[in-house]
Amino acid sequence: MIPDSFKQDLLNRVDIVDVVQRYVQLKKGGANFMGLCPFHGEKTPSFTVSPAKQFYHCFGCGAHGNAIGFLIAYAGLGYVDAIKDLAAGVGMQVPEWQPRTPEEAARKERETDLYGVMEQAMDFYRAELKKSPRAIEYLKGRGLTGEIAARFRIGYAPDGWQGLKVVFSDYSHSSLVECGLVIEGEEGKRYDRFRDRVMFPILSTRGAVIGFGGRVLGEGEPKYLNSPETPLFEKGREVYGLVQAREAIHAAGRVLVVEGYMDVVALAQFGVEYAVATLGTATTPIHVTKLLKLADELVFSFDGDAAGRKAAWRALEVSLPLLVDHKPVRFLFLPEGDDPDTFIRKHGKEVFEKQVAAAKTLSEFLIDELRQDADLNSNEGRAKFLSAAKPYLQKMGGSQLPTLVAKEIATLARQPEEAPSLLARAPTPYARSAPPKPSMARHFELEERVLTLVFAKPSLALEVDLQVLNPERDETKALAEIVGLIRQSASPEAVSDAMLIELTRDSEHHELIARAQAEFWMSLKLTAEEALGELKDTLAKLRTRTPEYEKSLSTKILKGLATAEEKRVYEERFLSKRP
Ligand SMILES: [Zn+2]
Repeated sequence: MIPDSFKQDLLNRVDIVDVVQRYVQLKKGGANFMGLCPFHGEKTPSFTVSPAKQFYHCFGCGAHGNAIGFLIAYAGLGYVDAIKDLAAGVGMQVPEWQPRTPEEAARKERETDLYGVMEQAMDFYRAELKKSPRAIEYLKGRGLTGEIAARFRIGYAPDGWQGLKVVFSDYSHSSLVECGLVIEGEEGKRYDRFRDRVMFPILSTRGAVIGFGGRVLGEGEPKYLNSPETPLFEKGREVYGLVQAREAIHAAGRVLVVEGYMDVVALAQFGVEYAVATLGTATTPIHVTKLLKLADELVFSFDGDAAGRKAAWRALEVSLPLLVDHKPVRFLFLPEGDDPDTFIRKHGKEVFEKQVAAAKTLSEFLIDELRQDADLNSNEGRAKFLSAAKPYLQKMGGSQLPTLVAKEIATLARQPEEAPSLLARAPTPYARSAPPKPSMARHFELEERVLTLVFAKPSLALEVDLQVLNPERDETKALAEIVGLIRQSASPEAVSDAMLIELTRDSEHHELIARAQAEFWMSLKLTAEEALGELKDTLAKLRTRTPEYEKSLSTKILKGLATAEEKRVYEERFLSKRP
């Protein structure tokens, strides 16, 4: 953990314009810089970088963040790496995190411990590989050289129940179980999880060992065995091979997602270095988001059999809402019985890459699958086809793409004029709850003002009296949390907009802050003093309402509240708090 005070310093010293300009061409326009958004496809710039506010905002897709966030989102760096990168650029040294409480100290020690344990285990497996002619023979048989084995740090877990005892003299230590290396059976008997397997270390984006995948040598079940979920390893987030593939992904502008470790390693051996694998789980939105940020094109490779097509369909469903026009998602189906590993060994790089280039686009795959279930030669079949397609089209991301696909589908069903209706979405409820009723407007207006001011000028959080705000509003709850974060931070009076983004990075209000900052940046142009004056006035109005005014107001509000439950909550939680 890096102290907030350091992040604040760093964000004050770094210039976000320099950082973004390393990757995106920007032009000065008034006080801000504009460019083509790197997060969605566009022809006229709506991506804006504010040197005063030290954040970027895209008016097209809503992308929003500070310099740290940009490196994470665009360059695909991990959190700590992004901070290190920025710090190096301005000559700052990232401090080692110092635990403040015994609990923090224990947690730090435990984590350092677990990473250390994993590292030691990897070294052990790698040394064991050198001692095992059988394992070496197996890898050679698959066409792998020592060089590629070293690059992926492949090892071998020896046959035997407690092989790891050699490296861990205290085999009974709880960290071995916590890391998933050792299993505790009935009656407390302990034994190695991985035995007689080729070991593929799974690395975090920072390059630390967080898990292992083990492939059985010869026959045996299960063929592939993964580390369980541990404090270090969350399967739905991680992909195998990303550290090794990152450069090639950038160079090729493409990332290929395969099903197994062996596929990744074999492809790299044959010169296709931009492949990664999901880790024994179905594709998750986190996977897709992560990979789409790194590449211009995402290609999923699945086996051509029924199980492969099913997995592909899940990947399609997960990817649909995440689609952007300029980053195609494709599906590669190899001939039945082949996987990327066997295919590339048989046919070589060139033939394989031809297959990749010809992979079906997501919309082709979608239409093909939907057609299989509907006979387009009958009215019934065409009706079925249209209604089956509708929910997918409505979920589809991108701006032009859904329209184009809807047109094609409508035309196939011989109903070209129906295309717009396929896209019509039910209005989505806005994040805030019901819009305020007219009788509450005045009351809300004052509150709204307070919220606006604090979101726009974080240092004002020190002045806010939460007691005068309606505790039932979602915005008030968010504000209470944000005010808390600001007050607890190293120097609350100096929290900048960029730092507010940082403080709320892991909070569920991150989006709210992003939206509010952008809105207020454009519409609320007050100096710090003016804003403070406004806030004080507004708070005073909220505080010093006369009992008569209060009464008339609350009568109006109570009238405006729809249900008895709402009234009860209002009376109990809100009115009772007043003197
Ligand atoms: Zn954008």
